Amino acid sequence: MSPTRVPLIAGNWKMNTTIAEARALARALVSDLDGVADVEVLLCPPFVSLTTVGGEISGTSLKLGAQNLHPESKGAFTGEVSPAMLSGLCDYVIVGHSERRTLFGEDDSLVNRKVHAALVHGLVPILCVGETLAQREAGATDEVLARQTALGLDAVPPDADFVVAYEPVWAIGTGKAASAPDAHQAISLVRRTVSQQLGVKTAERTRVLYGGSVKSSNIRDFLASAEIDGALVGGASLDPEDFSDIVAGASRSSSG
Ligand code: PEP
Repeated sequence: MSPTRVPLIAGNWKMNTTIAEARALARALVSDLDGVADVEVLLCPPFVSLTTVGGEISGTSLKLGAQNLHPESKGAFTGEVSPAMLSGLCDYVIVGHSERRTLFGEDDSLVNRKVHAALVHGLVPILCVGETLAQREAGATDEVLARQTALGLDAVPPDADFVVAYEPVWAIGTGKAASAPDAHQAISLVRRTVSQQLGVKTAERTRVLYGGSVKSSNIRDFLASAEIDGALVGGASLDPEDFSDIVAGASRSSSG
């Protein structure tokens, strides 16, 4: 990890946890992780638990994020959640997760509208990019990452506060993480794309995370790269012990 960018460990709880389970998980994580000074810890529960988890982490060092948003501020969009509703409720929002892209048909243009909607409403978007196995095997990884990054950040101002998460689709929820050198290479390309589009300064201060089967046993391998600024964690974020161990692995004070 970089000596200047504060590492971010984000837990994506996906469509898991009832409100009661979310409260219990948040409580356990507050007890383990409040006050960790050198790692930013972010919890992304389902929409219906944002208020409850927000209450549990209020006054602690933990941050709150949503998993998705609609690009419009309000209107006739039954079942959707707008950026205006999230503004003030949470700090971050995940945008363009591969499950949104593949299961719900989100394309780069919609993802870009969501990035802008988040920024306009004072939320930090976490733009997810990543290649499928077929794209990787076809040698298209670099092209996919450059395209998703460039289009996702289209017309974003250079002073905008955003995060990018490199999540190879084949590594999400499969137990087969990318190798640290492959993640380093992919994230270097993402950062170069940010640099070409928004300038060197923006690229140098922007955090780029790795996501895909991150565990306490591999987090240090990823963070040994100066390019990788943290992790977006799915499955392991639902177990307080596993998630706390991942945060400990990201902490400089415990990394030896
Ligand atoms: C994710 O949901 O973004 C993710 C990376 O999941 P997992 O850690 O379970 O692979």
